[in-house]
Amino acid sequence: MKLHEHQSRQLLSDSGIPVPAARLAADPAAAARSAIELGGPVVVKAQVLSGGRGKAGGVKLAADADGAAAAADQILGLEIGGNRVENVMVAEAVDIESEFYLAALPDREAGQLMLMASAAGGIEIETVATRDPEAIRTVGFGVDSGLAPFQARRLAFQLDIPLPVIGDFAKIAAATADCLVENDASLVEINPLVLSGGRLLAIDAKITIDDAALFRQPRLHDLRNPEEETATEAKARNSGISYVKLDGTIGCMVNGAGLAMALLDVIVSEGGEPANFLDVGGGADAGQVAKAMNLILADPAVEVVLVNIFGGITRCDDVARGIVQSLAELPWCVPLEIRLVGTNQAEGLKILREAGLNAHRGMLSAVRAAVALAG
Ligand code: GDP
Ligand code: MN
Repeated sequence: MKLHEHQSRQLLSDSGIPVPAARLAADPAAAARSAIELGGPVVVKAQVLSGGRGKAGGVKLAADADGAAAAADQILGLEIGGNRVENVMVAEAVDIESEFYLAALPDREAGQLMLMASAAGGIEIETVATRDPEAIRTVGFGVDSGLAPFQARRLAFQLDIPLPVIGDFAKIAAATADCLVENDASLVEINPLVLSGGRLLAIDAKITIDDAALFRQPRLHDLRNPEEETATEAKARNSGISYVKLDGTIGCMVNGAGLAMALLDVIVSEGGEPANFLDVGGGADAGQVAKAMNLILADPAVEVVLVNIFGGITRCDDVARGIVQSLAELPWCVPLEIRLVGTNQAEGLKILREAGLNAHRGMLSAVRAAVALAG
């Protein structure tokens, strides 16, 4: 789950990281009022779940309330990274002496967490990584131990942080590490962390929360931003179905994430392109299968549906009933290739046959048939 900048800034601030004051505004008049409350020059920033807002015209400095209203007027309604700007954040503007990059995230290869930092702040870290990988420094830390003070100070020296603020940097680095752990985040990114008038301040923040941990983060649970998901993905999540939209034309319904991944691999190796990843879950019943079929067919790119079910706890007859049920309910005009084996296979095949459908015994023959139909 991705958080907006204003939400991320709040979490940073809660962890003790200095962040300039800010207000959220949905129209130019509110932006003007926010500027008056904050006093002095402000920066008006699009609140969308994508980076590179500066380049897209979504970040503007304003000297006063009128300027803030004008900036909000220009930014609201822009489309950035595929999302319409519905809100702007009005924040105290700061003079920037230098910009740093600081992030905390899991280091999957090392099986621990890490802090990543660079003196090349303000530009996307991916760009720094390609142009000048040496400019990025990392340090590992444990979930329980956090970042040790000496590690934070060493990082500060590596980045040539000015001597008077090395202590502050070390505190911010440790707080960033804590912010990751305390919120079960998979990314806490500050870009840039700026030096301004002898102080270090986080002026942009991007936090992603691990969805699997939301059950124990009640405070964050309600922050989900609807524009993060497509309507279909939201529907899937509410039905307990894992669904990820992909770019191809072969709609896939599979039970089990591993089998679903394997199917995608086989489709691609046979020259096809999957339209989605979908795991109906173990023990899926007829209703669940019908819901999954609905999700798949809601995608207009789908030219053929490939069902790959290995019945274990899930029973083939339930799956067959779900397929037949969804055929009756939907305006259905794409071909269907089914591979159905396992528990209650004979009953399942009988139900399909009576509905005029045929099933493959092997995954490969089903995939080949689907690829041929998808053209
Ligand atoms: P992003 O483009 O989505 O990453 O948005 P940022 O919040 O990082 O803003 C982009 C750039 O705008 C920053 O790297 C800064 O150079 C500039 N900027 C943002 N806030 C301020 C501010 O308060 N003062 C000044 N002078 N520049 C700012
Ligand atoms: Mn940024």
